[in-house]
Amino acid sequence: MGGGVSGLTLAYYLAQKNDLFDIHLIEKSERAGGWIDSDSSTGFFFEKGPRVFRGSKSKEFLELAAEIGMDREMIPCNPEAKSRYLWIDGKLRKAPLLSWGLIKGVIRDLYVKPEIGNDESVWDFACRRFNAQVAQDVFDPLVTGIYGGNMKEISMKLGFPAFKALEEKHGSVIKGLFKTPRYQGPRLFSFQRGMKSFIKKLEEKTPIHFHYGEEITSISPSLEVKTSEGIYQADYLFSALPCHIIGKLLFPQLLNISFQGTTLVHLGYRRKVLRKNGFGYLVASREKDDVLGVVFDSNAFNQFNQSKEETRLTVMLKRDDLSDAEARDLALKALKNHLKIKDQPDVSMVLRAPKVFPQLKVGHEKILNTVEAIRKEKYPQLRLVGNYFYGVGVNDCIARAKSVADIFLRETVN
Ligand SMILES: Cc1cc2nc3c(=O)[nH]c(=O)nc-3n(C[C@H](O)[C@H](O)[C@H](O)COP(=O)(O)OP(=O)(O)OC[C@H]3O[C@@H](n4cnc5c(N)ncnc54)[C@H](O)[C@@H]3O)c2cc1C
Repeated sequence: MGGGVSGLTLAYYLAQKNDLFDIHLIEKSERAGGWIDSDSSTGFFFEKGPRVFRGSKSKEFLELAAEIGMDREMIPCNPEAKSRYLWIDGKLRKAPLLSWGLIKGVIRDLYVKPEIGNDESVWDFACRRFNAQVAQDVFDPLVTGIYGGNMKEISMKLGFPAFKALEEKHGSVIKGLFKTPRYQGPRLFSFQRGMKSFIKKLEEKTPIHFHYGEEITSISPSLEVKTSEGIYQADYLFSALPCHIIGKLLFPQLLNISFQGTTLVHLGYRRKVLRKNGFGYLVASREKDDVLGVVFDSNAFNQFNQSKEETRLTVMLKRDDLSDAEARDLALKALKNHLKIKDQPDVSMVLRAPKVFPQLKVGHEKILNTVEAIRKEKYPQLRLVGNYFYGVGVNDCIARAKSVADIFLRETVN
């Protein structure tokens, strides 16, 4: 149920045992991919959802890409677009911000005793190991960039497990970073024809029955699934539906998870209007700005530029309830204020993404454990995947889907 990257990945791995199962994927919209979609309909290339991946954090994604032959189509992010900025204290400053506070925080981390297994907020973790300045200048932009959330609420253990693991394994984040072998693979990547081509290929390599344009409306304890088009009786069921949908259908406990939405404003100019090099910038949460951040798309992946002169920018707004005109106005105001860009774009496209980033807050694991206990007792043949488990990134979704498929096949086939 659900044909985003979670559902499609799960179906792909289950289909390795296609001779044993008759697999059907039911998806509400007319295509696979969920949030993943690329668009050139305006004459400019834009990613409607995720656009760039860090190789060192994408083990399962890279493995899957290689299996389906998409490794050949991988493209690196423009090395000249490495710089990232932070809009902070009314200025655009290069990240990371170097300061005495940062240096003192780094030294402190080398001596603070590790705490094992505790569930604390990103803010509490950063203040405990480093100091408040490191929390604000380093961790706050990370939380904004990944969750669009509040670092005083997001759980360190669930939201940033890699940092927590460094503390637990090496006694210090900084020591851990130095002791971790240097990653040798692609640093930041996308695909030659955009993210949509990855989904298309994955769909092609998944020989199952696809049902598009069918909305699931109810699920009974005996795994009878009603959709807008009919009724299915399943032996095993896998939900890759968004958290609030499976929450409404079966697990009201999941409705306790809150979400951050965003509105994306894609802007295309047929001339150079951006004087900054680099990948883009995030806005520090203390600025109380309407903007989460801006990506300099035409710098980051210049391979997608249709002409040498063009500029493509994506402004991510905090609110998801604005009209197209309001969103566009806010985006243009931000560009004028932050980047001194006064030109009108040749093309603009507004996309709302409500309820997209689950907030993995302190206590999130307790909600997941409760749901898991109910699932085991009431729906043992149902499994759950999606971005509300252990991370919102595409790699997290792929990793979760692969692990659920592996466990299922081990338990069921052997
Ligand atoms: C603007 C944006 C930028 C992002 N950038 C990045 C990034 O750069 N890197 C990164 O790693 N991640 C990024 N993410 C996050 C990542 O894209 C998502 O977390 C991930 O794609 C979620 O995949 P999913 O399959 O779990 O869920 P979804 O993509 O939400 O898929 C769920 C599917 O279920 C279907 N569905 C819903 N209700 C029903 C129903 N009743 N019946 C049948 N089907 C139903 C939906 O139509 C959808 O296709 C970004 C997300 C957004 C929106």
